[in-house]
Amino acid sequence: MTIMPAHSPHTLKKPVVMIVDDDFSARLQVRFTLENEGFEVIEAASGQEALGLFRENQPDLVLLDVIMPDMDGFATCQALRILPGGSHLPVVMVTGLDDTETITQAFDAGATDFVSKPINMLILGYRARYWLRSGSILRELKISQGRLFKAQEIARLGHWERDLDSNTFQITCHSPEIFGLSHPCDYDALFAGIVTEDRERARELIDDACRTGLAFSLHYRVVLADGSERIILNQGEVVKGSSHQRRLVVGILQDITALKQAEDKIHYLAFYDNLTGLANRSLFREQWSKILPHARRNGKKVTILFIDLDHFKRINDTLGHPSGDKVLILVADRLKSLLRHSDIISRSSTDQPSPLISRVGGDEFTILATDITTPNQVTSLAERIVEVLNQPFELDGQVINLTASIGISIYPDDGDDIDMLLKNADTAMYEAKDNGRNSFQFYQSAMNDAAMERFHLGNRLRTALNNGEIVLYYQPLFSNNNGNKFIGVEALIRWLDPEKGLIPPDKFLPFAEENGFIHNINEWVIQEACVQAQKWVAAGLFTDCRMGINISGNRINFIQLGANIIATLAETGLAPQYLEVELTERVMMDNTDDAITMLQQLKDIGVAIAIDDFGTGYSALSHLQLFPLTTLKIDKSFIQNIATTDNGLSLMLSIIGIAKSFDLKVVAEGVETEDQLSAIGKMDCDVLQGYLLSRPIPRDKLEALLHSTFWD
Ligand code: C2E
Ligand code: CA
Ligand code: CA
Repeated sequence: MTIMPAHSPHTLKKPVVMIVDDDFSARLQVRFTLENEGFEVIEAASGQEALGLFRENQPDLVLLDVIMPDMDGFATCQALRILPGGSHLPVVMVTGLDDTETITQAFDAGATDFVSKPINMLILGYRARYWLRSGSILRELKISQGRLFKAQEIARLGHWERDLDSNTFQITCHSPEIFGLSHPCDYDALFAGIVTEDRERARELIDDACRTGLAFSLHYRVVLADGSERIILNQGEVVKGSSHQRRLVVGILQDITALKQAEDKIHYLAFYDNLTGLANRSLFREQWSKILPHARRNGKKVTILFIDLDHFKRINDTLGHPSGDKVLILVADRLKSLLRHSDIISRSSTDQPSPLISRVGGDEFTILATDITTPNQVTSLAERIVEVLNQPFELDGQVINLTASIGISIYPDDGDDIDMLLKNADTAMYEAKDNGRNSFQFYQSAMNDAAMERFHLGNRLRTALNNGEIVLYYQPLFSNNNGNKFIGVEALIRWLDPEKGLIPPDKFLPFAEENGFIHNINEWVIQEACVQAQKWVAAGLFTDCRMGINISGNRINFIQLGANIIATLAETGLAPQYLEVELTERVMMDNTDDAITMLQQLKDIGVAIAIDDFGTGYSALSHLQLFPLTTLKIDKSFIQNIATTDNGLSLMLSIIGIAKSFDLKVVAEGVETEDQLSAIGKMDCDVLQGYLLSRPIPRDKLEALLHSTFWD
């Protein structure tokens, strides 16, 4: 640290001392002493003169006599202090010996120090050097403080300290309010301005750091008095204070709003496509590198769809590039909304990134999906993309028709690095184009065949329903007591494929449930079963009998379904007491409130309501109370167990007991053996169903049996 003030014109010269005293001999004596000690001395005989000399000479030290005529030392000191350069000047008052009152007054007037008369000339030189040195240190400190403040202001920085032992808090910064702080400020106030969502976490992190002694760094948003929001970086650590046991938390606050905004902007430009707002190639790759380790660790698949618009060049050529750009924006919007609303994206996997749509080239898009990986899911998605892009686009009053071709590759089946996967998806996309565009193609892999099979199945199912290839079989139900009397049927769907023969429901219903076609099937079953039952009723074959129908699917609109059933009953003329609706708990639980409303409505008019497959997967006794039911169908797995395990028997008995306590009719499904039949025969079970009594049979066969007296 330099002793001489850096800006003083006397830097290389001797330090200048101004002596202010009306007593000529006193001045002379001091001058003599100080000049001998290497100082330059100037003299003023009065306060007024001192002010003038000060302006001209900018002395480094002033020795000021207190008692002077006109303007005394106090007044002179005060006047000096407000002159330019006077605020940090060492001013030493010359007072009477032990005159404590004067000394106090001198300090009040702004004196740096005092020296009493008679001045000890032997040590005056030493003292003068000391005053100069301390004055210079003080000045430097002030300057550096000023600079710090300025720097803090420019950098939008603040500095805070919290003494953990005394719990005192202090903050130094140019303007605390930019950090959302009020003034004066305590530790709690540090958090008061933080937006609610960030506050608790911020407090927790800093409190934790205080406790553990670890460093912290966090940013959060604060709301300022004018309502604007800023982003504040708060970082710091716990340090030992001056006295050794004291623990001090020292933090730096920085307003990083502009930085953050710039960062966001840069991030956006770097990772998003300016035209469509979709991710760009870089983000696509970045995302891939994020999900790959997770997929690898957990043996998960990742799907890449490569979408290319067919003949997009034509649009650009005929309508011009600006219109082409607009079409691309519309395409992007459709893809976004398709994926946002798609029910093929399972809701449970929220910890996984949702499918990422990127625009990777002029008219090329990719979708990176971690939770759409089964052949059915991928096929459904690809099919829907094709479909959604097939809808006409309206642009400035013009209708534009587009098609797209999609290539699909799957990690790890089709490659384990992204370039390989993209290349394979691209190859598949060209294959789709070769196959006549407007379609999709899996990269040739084992999965392809299975997926295509299911896809074709999906398409064929639609035609099959229209062509009458879908039929109902009927499995007779019998009473358990009362001489095993015929009491109705359960309608079970079958697909009679002209090529493949009879396809059982578990081969096509899961797919129909996945792609939503099940809703059409439900409607068809309701219609078909009611028409059929009414014919049998009219023919006198169905007295006191019921037709059971199965309803399934995801996200059933129960209200609409209920209305549909009621309308169908009215149209076909079937009285409600001939119908029974079977639902599994999984289906009812999907939209509990609506399901209850609908079931209650049906029950009220006399339709029987069965809870199907009871005892499997989702079963809960509480459901028996929750849903308006009339019937409980015990799943066949229980019946299969009664003859073989004791446990099975007792389970069956307790289910029946509970069902009875809810006043439900009990059906035993899947009775296959005489042993089972005789075991159930002793139970309080109402209805029997199973291969032993009859398999599901086609309509004509059932009618033949009904006409015969076989079951009477
Ligand atoms: P579910 O509702 O539990 O129907 C009873 C199933 O058990 C039928 O299989 C029936 O053939 C079978 N079954 C009957 N007795 C026995 C037996 O003694 N032993 C064995 N092992 N099985 C027996 P199916 O017809 O293959 O139907 C399977 C499932 O498909 C049905 O199970 C039902 O969940 C669904 N399903 C069938 N038809 C329809 C329909 O029209 N609509 C809807 N939504 N689902 C249907
Ligand atoms: Ca059933
Ligand atoms: Ca069942």
